[in-house]
Amino acid sequence: MAQHTRKQEGPERRDRFRARRRRFAHAGRPRQTSGAKAGHALQRRLRGYPFLRVGLQVKTLVSLAALFIIIFGCRYAAARERVRNSLPVWYANDNVRYFDGQLPPVYLRWANLESEGALGITQTNENGYLEVVLDFYQLRNDQDAREVLHHEMCHIATWGSEPVHGPAFQTCMAEHGFIETR
Ligand SMILES: [Zn+2]
Repeated sequence: MAQHTRKQEGPERRDRFRARRRRFAHAGRPRQTSGAKAGHALQRRLRGYPFLRVGLQVKTLVSLAALFIIIFGCRYAAARERVRNSLPVWYANDNVRYFDGQLPPVYLRWANLESEGALGITQTNENGYLEVVLDFYQLRNDQDAREVLHHEMCHIATWGSEPVHGPAFQTCMAEHGFIETR
């Protein structure tokens, strides 16, 4: 039995294939690429199911929305990065602008100060140097960050005076026109 079927795979069978191919060639059907064929087939199938077409539109909208989210996410990240890098520039510029460059160089860094309940802190760090820490998460724009920095700069200008938010500090704030909106 097995031998019998194997015999069919000989030249006889190849001839049958050739004959079939010739038949198709003579039928003269317009040729379609498989891509176009698939597209037409999809259109035919969608004709009766408008909700599927709506589904495709929704897919497109979702893709566009995702694209916009990515673009705005990148822009937002870039803006935040710029704020992050601006701190030493703000300090240097405002030291010259408001304090004739008389404030000492200090360590400047961003941190999460939520647990301290503060937007900014001026302190001496473990090496004994003055350090200004601003809250990166609560200060969402340049103006807010700079207002808090000005507050901390008055702490530096009046460092050692008691109480810390006493008359010397208040005079510093007033004479430079520093306002606190937060
Ligand atoms: Zn303060």
